[in-house]
Amino acid sequence: MSKHDDNLTELFDKNGNLIGALITADLWTKVKPMIKDLLPQEAPPERPEPIGEWKTLQEYWDFPYPVDTNVHCENCGNKTEDWEKDDPRKFRLTSCNLGGLVSFNCTACNARIVKKHFKDEITVECTPFIEKKNKNLEARY
Ligand SMILES: [Zn+2]
Repeated sequence: MSKHDDNLTELFDKNGNLIGALITADLWTKVKPMIKDLLPQEAPPERPEPIGEWKTLQEYWDFPYPVDTNVHCENCGNKTEDWEKDDPRKFRLTSCNLGGLVSFNCTACNARIVKKHFKDEITVECTPFIEKKNKNLEARY
């Protein structure tokens, strides 16, 4: 059962208790900015670094060279000898897996730096930040 007006439809359970509301996209667009602080963050601007995964990779490091901690951003020239020791971080760890794929986010220009560890070499890819067409992010930055 529902009560309806043009923009808002209130929804009731069979006992007549209000359980929620449906609103039109039009109204939602207007209302959303007003209540955004009440909503859970859809995309937290900063996810915690997956440090545990980095530790695991170090633990099972089976490459024929020592663990490398240096990161360099080709896009803006930002660099560090040991990203983990920087405070504040010059590069944030964004992902890491046991295959030796380690990704960072350059905190200076937001480029993505991906280090791939192979048996005999380390390759580094730097991808400049491309702004996504995402209203939530636009509103936040
Ligand atoms: Zn950079």
